[in-house]
Amino acid sequence: MSYLKDADPELFDILYREIDRESSTLELIASENFVSYPVLEMAGGVMTNKYAEGYPGKRYYGGCEHVDEAENLARDRAKELFNAAYANVQPHSGSQANMAALFTFVKTGDTIMGLDLAHGGHLTHGSPVNFSGKLFNVVSYQVDRETGRVNFDDVHELARAHKPKLIICGGSAYPRFIEFEAFKNVADEVGAFLMADIAHPAGLVATGLHPSPMPYCDVVTTTTHKTLRGPRGGMILMGKDYPNPFGIVAPKSGRVKNMSELIDSMVMPGIQGGPLMHIIAAKAVAFGEALKPEFKQYTIQVVANAKRIAEELLKKDYNLVSGGTDTHVILIDLTNKGITGKAAENVLEKAGITVNKNMVPFDDRSPFITSGLRIGTPAITTRGMKEDEMTMICNMIDQIINDINNDEVINSVKNSVKELCETFPLYDDLRN
Ligand SMILES: *Cc1c(COP(=O)(O)O)cnc(C)c1O
Repeated sequence: MSYLKDADPELFDILYREIDRESSTLELIASENFVSYPVLEMAGGVMTNKYAEGYPGKRYYGGCEHVDEAENLARDRAKELFNAAYANVQPHSGSQANMAALFTFVKTGDTIMGLDLAHGGHLTHGSPVNFSGKLFNVVSYQVDRETGRVNFDDVHELARAHKPKLIICGGSAYPRFIEFEAFKNVADEVGAFLMADIAHPAGLVATGLHPSPMPYCDVVTTTTHKTLRGPRGGMILMGKDYPNPFGIVAPKSGRVKNMSELIDSMVMPGIQGGPLMHIIAAKAVAFGEALKPEFKQYTIQVVANAKRIAEELLKKDYNLVSGGTDTHVILIDLTNKGITGKAAENVLEKAGITVNKNMVPFDDRSPFITSGLRIGTPAITTRGMKEDEMTMICNMIDQIINDINNDEVINSVKNSVKELCETFPLYDDLRN
């Protein structure tokens, strides 16, 4: 049954074209995933109607008893998943989680350190085109040319020279475990706060496949829609809560406020208004799924699949940044293949394989061209694909990249993609 079909056939058709695209192509974008039907149902539900500025039990609007229940469950489940003492599930996105965390811990003009965007960092870690680069004095650290891993000599040296107030670890195209403990050593040495952005590996962290930032970091931000497989959104966590070191007191009692209170008030009213209660409730549903043993099996397969892709590509003489992966991400340096990231992305898309071009460390090309491709396994693993399919996919990618102008090859791969997708159906129930 569809209301949309009758009310607005134009948008109904657009929606169904998107369902077809998602189900009939191979989604290898490392930051994407496919949510379950229950998550879709909650995200498409009536909680979109509710204004609920504030937090459970302390709202500025009436009628919040049920959205309070949903937000409390989302927070409790998030804390259980990540072994955290505190969770704020209201950030509309990962970028807003980062904005609220940064504004809580540092002031405009303060020095922060983050991984260079071209080396796998994120826009919100200090890019000049982002609020983070405009409002803070940013010192970017890089990865080592040889190993492709964070260069801790570089991090130490920069930290000693620039005395940052806060260091961000984590990134968007970093195939290896984030080295929380090594960053903690640097942060302690220079008296900086340590913020981990686990937007990418959150699902792996939740299931113990990636080390946890909680023992080492003052604050942890994440998205909920990447490996965590929830609705699009953000979240802020802390391993422990403590009185804020800035001496900010509650006006009436004169009590020194806890960091959790400062973060809560930075999210709302600091940078956001009414929370997206349908999305917060859908986060609760997704966190409930992530607490089940099946989700751990899923993340184990995500990593096994990524490792298989890395192995197969190495056999075919592809250069991988850092030589492989610990996670769901593989970053290919295409330089020796004589093709740019942009050209590879375009030709793979013609065959129904969706990837994204990506800068590689020390890239000579611009972010619009790039020398690399980023590949990820979260979405295809959700469809049920395993190691054998990874080998097939690598063969398809390789055939195309070796012969980018050969329409016959592109068409034959396109047919194989279609067959593979039919074997691992997605969202079939939405079509009935
Ligand atoms: C994806 C990502 C974000 C931001 O997420 P949005 O929801 O797109 O704003 C932040 N940090 C890192 C490291 C990411 O990969």
